[in-house]
Amino acid sequence: MAKYHYDLFVIGAGSGGVRAARMAAGLGARVAAAEERYMGGTCVNVGCVPKKMLVYASHYRDDFEDAAGFGWTVKPESFNWQKLIANKDKEIQRLNGIYEKLLTNAGVTIYNGRAILVDAHTVSINGENVSAERILLAVGGWPYVPDFPGQELAITSNEAFFLPKLPRKVVVVGGGYIAVEFAGIFNGLGSEVTQVYRGPLFLRGFDDDVREFLAQELPKKGIKLRFDVDVEAIKKSSDGLEVSLTDGTSIRCDTVMYATGRRPLTDNLGLQAAGVELNHNGAIKINERYQTNIDSIFAIGDVTDRINLTPVALAEGMSFAWDNFSDGNKEVDYEFVPSAVFSQPNLASVGYTESQAREKFGKVTIYLSSFTALKHTISGSDEKTLMKLIVEDVTDKVIGVHMVGPDAGETIQGIAIALKAGATKSIFDRTIGIHPTAAEEFVTMREPVR
Ligand code: NDP
Repeated sequence: MAKYHYDLFVIGAGSGGVRAARMAAGLGARVAAAEERYMGGTCVNVGCVPKKMLVYASHYRDDFEDAAGFGWTVKPESFNWQKLIANKDKEIQRLNGIYEKLLTNAGVTIYNGRAILVDAHTVSINGENVSAERILLAVGGWPYVPDFPGQELAITSNEAFFLPKLPRKVVVVGGGYIAVEFAGIFNGLGSEVTQVYRGPLFLRGFDDDVREFLAQELPKKGIKLRFDVDVEAIKKSSDGLEVSLTDGTSIRCDTVMYATGRRPLTDNLGLQAAGVELNHNGAIKINERYQTNIDSIFAIGDVTDRINLTPVALAEGMSFAWDNFSDGNKEVDYEFVPSAVFSQPNLASVGYTESQAREKFGKVTIYLSSFTALKHTISGSDEKTLMKLIVEDVTDKVIGVHMVGPDAGETIQGIAIALKAGATKSIFDRTIGIHPTAAEEFVTMREPVR
């Protein structure tokens, strides 16, 4: 008889956990997975997928306005938030079912409930102790709201996806991916939006040129950006909420959404009982093979708080499965991980920012182009597009590509392949463009700006 009930017990059926469980089962392992909340985790339920649906929904306003320049007369539009949320919920429910099927079809046993570590090889779930040779922690993260008077009056992205009605006036706090994306969503759908960020310029960590460019674009769409200011308190007022800011001003609104980062979801997981160590930031500490300080316990994805993106968790899940249940070892390469902020217009990047590149590579050459996309020459919109290439002088390799513009995420995904392949600027130059597209600008930039 086998020593353990399973070869692998996965806690958390989100992007990383599901991928690892399916892959391991496919490689012949006896696998179980526990999920206490929703199949598919954050990305499917309160993250990437429903967020993108809301982004699509909110972009129609621009599209209706742009249509006039092309000869269309658009009937007065009206928007029904409840219908959007109901349709979104229906699709997410379908995806929940698909995720469940993916697991069961792969032969993974599903436990619905909260699994807690008991020791290095045992979890307790629904009052039952289940043992496994290896345990994988893939429990993700959770929105973090700092402590201040009235913090309980704020919502996070978790609630934003299920609001009973569209906010009339909303204050979005934070300057990261989620704050910028939701400011755009609410604004496009018709809310009056103020985004409050504590620093001088949002999207810290992205290239300065694209950050500044986006900060010029968003107010054109109607978003009020308030930088270098933070929330001091939120109070209930006669007609909603009053947000007091550190510069002495205040904003009246009906909704305050906090998007001030996410934290690893490590509470009450039995980490202490099993002896699993955390980093200083509360994330599970792992080595390069996703192994914690306890040999049989592993962790991947947001709970390790490294690059918190679904495709990274998927890659880690596969790498973990290969590593432990086959003789192959497919290491995840963390260089040139592309990402997009689904603001309107999108911001997307792959590789180094200009300041990172100067620090790491010394001499670099910068190509930069900003222009009005063909569509907007007659749409009436004053939206602009920005594209930037960073080239290492010694090798001629393109080491950073940044864009603000429609569908920048789609464009940068393709460019990311070129960067992984080590493309040089001269290869970019020898690549024929597709005309007329915005993306062709990436292969026609000849004159450096710096
Ligand atoms: P981010 O870490 O991206 O941004 C957090 C923001 O909140 C920063 O602007 C930060 O400011 C600010 N902040 C942090 N603490 C405080 C505080 N105490 N008071 C005021 N402001 C504060 O977090 P998000 O919540 O936006 O997203 C979490 C993660 O989820 C992202 O890092 C990303 O990995 C992932 N994600 C990816 C998406 C995508 O790929 N499109 C979409 C959504 C999320 P400062 O910069 O000054 O520290």
